[in-house]
Order: sequence, then structure tokens, then C-alpha cells
Amino acid sequence: MNAAKPNELTRNALPGVLGIEAYTPGMPVEELQRRLGLADVIKLASNENPLGASPAVQAALVAAAKGDNLALYPDGSGYRLKKKLATYHGIGAECITLGNGSNDLLEFLSRIYAGPGRAVMFSDFAFAVYSLAAQAQSAESVIVPAYAADHATMPYGHDLAAFGKTLAQRPDVSLVFIANPNNPTGTWNTPQEVLGFLEQVPPHVIVALDEAYWDYQDPALRTDALPWLDRFPNLVITRTFSKIYGIASMRAGYALSHPTVADLLNRVRQPFNNNSFALIAAEAALDDQDFVRRSIELNTVQRERLDDELKKRGLTVLPSQANFLTVGFGRDAKPIHQGLLERGVIVRPMGSYGLPQFLRVTVGSAAQNDRFLQALDAALASS
Ligand SMILES: *Cc1c(COP(=O)(O)O)cnc(C)c1O
Repeated sequence: MNAAKPNELTRNALPGVLGIEAYTPGMPVEELQRRLGLADVIKLASNENPLGASPAVQAALVAAAKGDNLALYPDGSGYRLKKKLATYHGIGAECITLGNGSNDLLEFLSRIYAGPGRAVMFSDFAFAVYSLAAQAQSAESVIVPAYAADHATMPYGHDLAAFGKTLAQRPDVSLVFIANPNNPTGTWNTPQEVLGFLEQVPPHVIVALDEAYWDYQDPALRTDALPWLDRFPNLVITRTFSKIYGIASMRAGYALSHPTVADLLNRVRQPFNNNSFALIAAEAALDDQDFVRRSIELNTVQRERLDDELKKRGLTVLPSQANFLTVGFGRDAKPIHQGLLERGVIVRPMGSYGLPQFLRVTVGSAAQNDRFLQALDAALASS
């Protein structure tokens, strides 16, 4: 084999790909255990469900762990899960596309609609996957400035009025991503803001409304965009089984869209992008809405408590309607992040999002939050 020089291996790589900075996920529990020799580690870094998964999901997976289910390809159409989702949302199955996590769908949208000479628009401080999906297609990212840090109600939130203005100046934008609520800020947009923006978008520009945290929102604050799909065929809503349903490991998400968009999504996905067990787990998860209710209740109570406790310590807490809080320390948060790691608590540093003074912490169980607050006090005292 000839000794290829590294620059030979990159020279034909697409320019967009070369510009990508790989996504840094939350540190796995085992990794911190290995690194620091700690036995007792909690992870509040990836917005996973502190209740775990529904017992019904666990039972369904155990029952499904049979030779045939392992040996045979999955149902590539995801017929049963789509049928359940169609009933759950009151929408036709032809409007549903399943993904290997909702991340899959965000990438499909980019693959279909973005490319060289086209632009993808999203907010500053928006979910990192949007820029990754745009860059992988060598499309330009148009980053709309977020609300200022001193905004009265929604610091760092998506400014949808600015989205409208930017879009009017950028006819090359073919795809818009809006996270509502957004990760990593937890901020959200009102139904009026979302609707006001949709009304300004030309019908050939796709608007992806990423609703990964929808269920966590106070019903009085959240946007019910589903009924708008008829009026705005360019609207695509994405949801996930990773957060409220507690099956992040399974990788299951879906998009709700006009059937024409669903047809395009179906063309670019892998034929078997959801494995059999993910399909089975998602079906069982959807059936256990009692688990969903318990997850919402726990999150609502603990989010408020954590918010109070952090503010009592003089810290800045961004408004959040999700299952995490983003906390500002008014100084570099790295030493505090490190102090928490040393005490067996994994949270998410925000430097890669341009928020080096912030850490994002997932709302855990009461016991996990106690542990986090204790570790935080110790870390603050010693750094
Ligand atoms: C967690 C998250 C997702 C969901 O990711 P999956 O691929 O479904 O696990 C999507 N969007 C945002 C904003 C998220 O935070």
C-alpha cells in the first residue's frame, strides 16, 4: 500500500465537510468513571429522562429479543409505528416519516433542500446539528442574531422577527430550522411569533420546526403547529422519542409534513433506518402516555426547584420550558465544569455554542438534583 499523505486524503473531501467541527456529545457515565476512577457518577448532560424508560417498553423489548427479530430486516416502512402515530396525532400516515432519532430527519431535510449555492437559516445559539447538517451539504449557514443577553423576557432566544427580515434579504435560503423550545438555551417562541414568521415565508422555503422538547412545555405557552400543516405545506414538524419517552438509546424520531415532503424524505433515507427494536420500543412508549405524564410532572416540579436554587446562589438562569436549565456564572465556566466532573457530576459545557460562561444541566430526579447542587456548591467554593 502506498503511504498516502494526509492532504491527499482530504483534498477531494467536500469543502463543507472539511469545515465541520465534529459534534461533542455529553460525556458517557462510564468514561468519567474510567477517567477519574469514580464509582458513583450521574449524568445530567444530554437531556435524558431521569425516570429511565417506561416498564412497558422494557417488557416489549425483552419479549422481542428473539432470533427472528434479530435475523430479519426490520419493517422498512415502519407500518405499525406510523399507524399508531397517525392515530395519536390525528394525521394521515402518508404525512409521517420515521428517523433514526429526529437527527436523521434534520439531515434528510438538509440533503434534500440544501447544497452548494443554497443557504440554511437558523438562530445563533441554536441546536448544533443545524449547522452540521448544512455544512455536510456544503451549504452556507445564515445565522440570525438571537435576542440580546439583557432581553427582558427571552435572553438568547430565537428572534423570529429578525428571521423574517433576514429571509427577505436572502433569496438563496432554502431551509430554515427553528427549535421550539431551543436547545441549548431552553428558550421558546410564542404561537403568534411562529405563525407570524410562517406567514412571511415563501412556499418553496422549507421551515423545520424542531419540537424535541414540546411535551415539556406548559400547555399555556406551547405552540400547537400541527393544525397549520394544511395551511403551510412547507412546514415540517420533527419530534423525538429520545427525551420525554426516555428511549434515547433506541434512536427513534419522526417528521410530520405534507405528503410530498414525506415522499422526498422517504427517498433519501436508508431503506432500514429504524431497527426492529427501536420500532417496537417506540410503539410501546407511545402507548404509555401515563409515563409521559409522570415525566412531565417530575420535570415541571424539579425544573422550578432547580431554577429557584440556582437563582438563590446569584447565578443567571435562562428561561427554560425544556428538561434542562442553562446557567450563567458571569465568568469562565470551565473550572466549575471540571469541579463538577471531579465530584462525579457530568453537565454540558457551552463553550462550543459561544457561551463559555454557561453550563447546561439536565433536570434530574430529586436525588440527582440534590447531588448536583451539593457538588455545585463545592465546585463554586473551590474554583
Ligand atoms: C435532543 C434533540 C433532538 C433529538 O435528537 P434525537 O436524534 O431524536 O435523539 C432534536 N433537536 C433538539 C433541539 C434536541 O435537543
